[in-house]
Amino acid sequence: TDMKPIDLNEGLHSTLVLVKNSMPDNLTVIKDLGNLPKVECQPGKINQVFMNLVSNAIQAIKTKSDQREEEFLTIKSWYIDQQVKISIKDTGTGMSEETKHRIFEPFFTTKDIGEGTGLGLSIVFSIIEKHKGHIEVNSKIGDGTEFIITLNVNPN
Ligand code: ADP
Ligand code: MG
Repeated sequence: TDMKPIDLNEGLHSTLVLVKNSMPDNLTVIKDLGNLPKVECQPGKINQVFMNLVSNAIQAIKTKSDQREEEFLTIKSWYIDQQVKISIKDTGTGMSEETKHRIFEPFFTTKDIGEGTGLGLSIVFSIIEKHKGHIEVNSKIGDGTEFIITLNVNPN
């Protein structure tokens, strides 16, 4: 395959550049990117993961009813125990327990027809699985959502 040692902070940074124009005025981005070793991965696929998660986060913020309230998208990365961790967190709508249990199913969506295919997170899940990583989600209605990705620096 096309595995390469990659600086994941660069991928996070380019993702944010690409989505800048789709961000609402009431959204503040907080970047807290740590010092990371390069991670052996498929760069195009990992960037697709970042794009899908960041797009969902922005949509969840736009869907919130009060567009005057300040909202936050927080992107963090850090290195611990030979693993790189990335957190993508939003103060958007959050998810019900039922939604949270179904998000990785192909074609599961709560969005209107034409707004979402329901494929984003199932693709994210399979990419992370192929990289032998992990993805976890914390979410609460009204508070927002956080996805945490864990990737091994040297996957075997
Ligand atoms: P889509 O975005 O096309 O609906 P996804 O697979 O990307 O499909 O997401 C599936 C569902 O998971 C979404 O419809 C939404 O209900 C929920 N979801 C995903 N990310 C978030 C988020 N950051 N905040 C709230 N809900 C989310
Ligand atoms: Mg999506």
